[in-house]
Amino acid sequence: MLYRSTRGSSPAVDSAGAVLSGIAPDGGLYLPEALPAFDWRACLQKDTISMAASLLAALLPGIPDMNTLTRRAYLGKFQSDDLTPTVAVGDFTVLELFRGPTSAFKDVALCMLPQLLTASKAVKGIREDILILTATSGDTGKAALEGFRDVPGVKICVFYPDGGVSQVQRAQMVTQEGSNVTVCAVRGNFDDAQTGVKNIFAACQGKALPYRLSSANSINIGRLAPQLTYYFAAYRDLVARGQIQVGERVNFSVPTGNFGDILAGYLAKQLGLPVGTLICASNANNVLTDFIHTGIYDRRRPLLKTQSPSMDILVSSNLERLLALLSGDTELVSGLMAKLNTEGFYQVPGELLEKIQASFFAGCSDDCRGQEVIGRVWREQGYLLDPHTAAGWACAEDYRAKTGDTAPMVVLSTASPYKFPAAVLTAIGQSLSGSEFDQMRQLEDVTGVPIPGNLATLAGKPQRHTAVVEKSEMLPFVLGL
Ligand SMILES: *Cc1c(COP(=O)(O)O)cnc(C)c1O
Repeated sequence: MLYRSTRGSSPAVDSAGAVLSGIAPDGGLYLPEALPAFDWRACLQKDTISMAASLLAALLPGIPDMNTLTRRAYLGKFQSDDLTPTVAVGDFTVLELFRGPTSAFKDVALCMLPQLLTASKAVKGIREDILILTATSGDTGKAALEGFRDVPGVKICVFYPDGGVSQVQRAQMVTQEGSNVTVCAVRGNFDDAQTGVKNIFAACQGKALPYRLSSANSINIGRLAPQLTYYFAAYRDLVARGQIQVGERVNFSVPTGNFGDILAGYLAKQLGLPVGTLICASNANNVLTDFIHTGIYDRRRPLLKTQSPSMDILVSSNLERLLALLSGDTELVSGLMAKLNTEGFYQVPGELLEKIQASFFAGCSDDCRGQEVIGRVWREQGYLLDPHTAAGWACAEDYRAKTGDTAPMVVLSTASPYKFPAAVLTAIGQSLSGSEFDQMRQLEDVTGVPIPGNLATLAGKPQRHTAVVEKSEMLPFVLGL
């Protein structure tokens, strides 16, 4: 099985090649040329880590020994080796994706990616070290640092906007331990940091460097593939609880930003898992909601700052993969992406829109609705949602109300409420005082929900990474590593 670019003008590569290069040379994203036959019923019999191994072996053939790689990636790193537990809450089932080492759902993928990268290096006989460069608006940076820390043959450097991440997120990054990690603040906003990283990649093209540059961004198939696992694990849990028989449909509501998480759900469906509707939940930045309703993708609007910052996004990169999967037309996809780039919008043909609407329902929930949902679910169910998960919950309610579809609903929970203590405290009717660390303790006192260990110990850890650079100093900083 080979991987091909969504834009059709790059040569096909094998799994290891796709993982190593991340993005295709023509700017497209890699997709398998055909999805493998997969025994999804047998997969449902397995424990979560073995599920991951069988899914990754099917999706990334040629990368050997997935059993060892998945165990190395996950054993002992999450609160339990079940990785992503499900909890029945009211009418829905919450899939807790935030029980990993940094309390972010990105841990599921970023614990696995280093194993896939180093195994791909071995497959290709590459000797030189890899330097992972990443710009972060908060969660990705910490999850990537933790995933890559002390992985032999790999170094990682994370840039974050100075003053542009929360106190907790900054503390998570600047206290990072590990012999191969660097963290640096950039004077500017997230776009400046991201543009700076892109410029470093461009400046280093074709240069003789002591390492190979790579990224931990969600366009890499090695980040997407590990995310199929928890759709299977959630389905298995519903069967075990007697809520469904194997074969019955389950709907999933997914708080969406870059469209990676929800696309993994669509791929799980393509592999046979009985997924009904995938609910694409946005916040007030509702580009995707409009797109799924009208077929017009239009990023020409201001980016709003919300209480669910990981969903504040105008261009959802992984949507390109869905367009390619559903149309099978690389010429169409590269035309649409070119138009998005030059004019800021595109419209898909009617038949493609119909295919999208057959699998996806779109909704959006602003901060006001999110606050209402967090407060109500806490009062009525005694369960604490974070603002991202609250958007998923709200859109799941909208879907039920609009369609009357009563199939079991799984709401993906993408962050611990302790990552956003101010928004959560306000929603449950508490007044705020002190630092974010004080607010974490206040939230624990009021609710009795324990602070995750990795966040509870943060305030007392030494700050190890205090460098701050101008945008123009990012390249020399990296060359000096
Ligand atoms: C990254 C992230 C999302 C969005 O996931 P995508 O795969 O980018 O759609 C949602 N919630 C949280 C908390 C995240 O960190």
